[in-house]
Amino acid sequence: MFGFFALLVQGIIYFALMGTVFRARHSVGLGVFFCLLGTMHFLETYLAATFFIELPFGLISPGSTVMFTGKLAVFLLLYIKEDAEAMRQPIYGLLSGNVLMIALGLILRLSSSPANLPGYNPDLGFIDQMGLLMVWGTVVLYIDLIAMIILYERLGKHVRNTFLLIFISLALVLSFDQAAFWAGLHILTGVPATAFYGGWIAKIGAAVFFAAALAFYLRFVERSTLPVRARGAVDVFDRLTYRHRYEILVEQVGKDALTGLQDRGAFDGQGPAMLQAAARFDRPISLLMIDIDHFKAINDSHGHVVGDGVIRDVAGMIAAEKREGDQVFRYGGEEFALLGTETPDGAMALAERIRTRVAASEISDLGHAVTISIGMATFPARSISFRNLLIRADAALYAAKIGGRNRVAVASGGEGRPDSEKGPAAEIVRPSV
Ligand code: GH3
Ligand code: MG
Ligand code: MG
Repeated sequence: MFGFFALLVQGIIYFALMGTVFRARHSVGLGVFFCLLGTMHFLETYLAATFFIELPFGLISPGSTVMFTGKLAVFLLLYIKEDAEAMRQPIYGLLSGNVLMIALGLILRLSSSPANLPGYNPDLGFIDQMGLLMVWGTVVLYIDLIAMIILYERLGKHVRNTFLLIFISLALVLSFDQAAFWAGLHILTGVPATAFYGGWIAKIGAAVFFAAALAFYLRFVERSTLPVRARGAVDVFDRLTYRHRYEILVEQVGKDALTGLQDRGAFDGQGPAMLQAAARFDRPISLLMIDIDHFKAINDSHGHVVGDGVIRDVAGMIAAEKREGDQVFRYGGEEFALLGTETPDGAMALAERIRTRVAASEISDLGHAVTISIGMATFPARSISFRNLLIRADAALYAAKIGGRNRVAVASGGEGRPDSEKGPAAEIVRPSV
């Protein structure tokens, strides 16, 4: 009688802790639950091989009865609440861990003999036995779990009662497992046949208990099938995850969400820095201001979702044409800025490449291509401020627009061109055909 209550108390504590950690998975992560499973796996195998108690119907092992049956039940819980993919992770982890255990034990024994210290006698034979038993147990568990999912799904079409469905699935799998695991145990450790029958009856009893516990969990502890994002766990590890969150944040800062290009803030910050760097090496700086033509009409006739797609596609084309070292930004709505240290000819060639590529690329959502206008300004970096560079490129863009769109206009006063302070702000050098 005492033995029975000891098992019952074990079962209650086991499921209560496993269930609690599983329930907390959205805040602490599933890894905690997996590690718990792994630790219990070792203790369970050890007890299954070495520790038996005598009950009226035979020898039973608390390790097998409570922990193994409990493990099957929580694996089923993992499958019901997560999926087969989550279930696969601990099983592969257990398998490889057990193989590693045997391999490391073997290497230790072959490569060195332990120091002869009184009271310290490593039992490597025991490690071997445990390792083999655990590998065998895990292989059988692997088959058990697949069988359990299939049974649970098939029977679920006919058996509507959750407790009954879980109990039948567990009981069938446990019967198979008992036969398979006992056979291995018998060969390795010579465990007698009474342990088979006693163990089988005890496991079926444990299946009643765990099926009830699992049905209780599914009904009262976690009803919804959709994972709920619970509040984060508040412990020291929660603080440690700030580094990760910080890195994600840093990654997002300065990025435009729609196009993935750098955003306006990055332009304002990086632009002057790039100009200064170019000035230090006495290089020219070039800025292309790019604006999609008649974009409002696209929004009006196709809607903003298609409009967004156009912005994204044009951004991709600009990014694909830019040269190494050039920086592309989304300046505003459908306006982009490309900053580089190009010579006037180099910048002009680049602008033309971008313009012709956009004009020739059909945008699938639209069924036709769009065009862009580009204002370009190239100056010796030493002789201009960033603000003035922007003003000049913007004026050139305006000139490209009034010149008929789908063209590149160059700011006057740029390098290699006469500085005409009083002349027009920009000249159109290459009207499109
Ligand atoms: P133009 O040839 O003179 O450039 O004509 P336009 O119609 O392109 O004129 P403008 O540049 O003034 O129009 C920009 C429009 O872009 C206005 C605004 O509604 C739209 N817009 C701005 N940001 C976004 C965005 O993020 N998504 C979408 N779909 N539209 C945007
Ligand atoms: Mg526009
Ligand atoms: Mg615009």
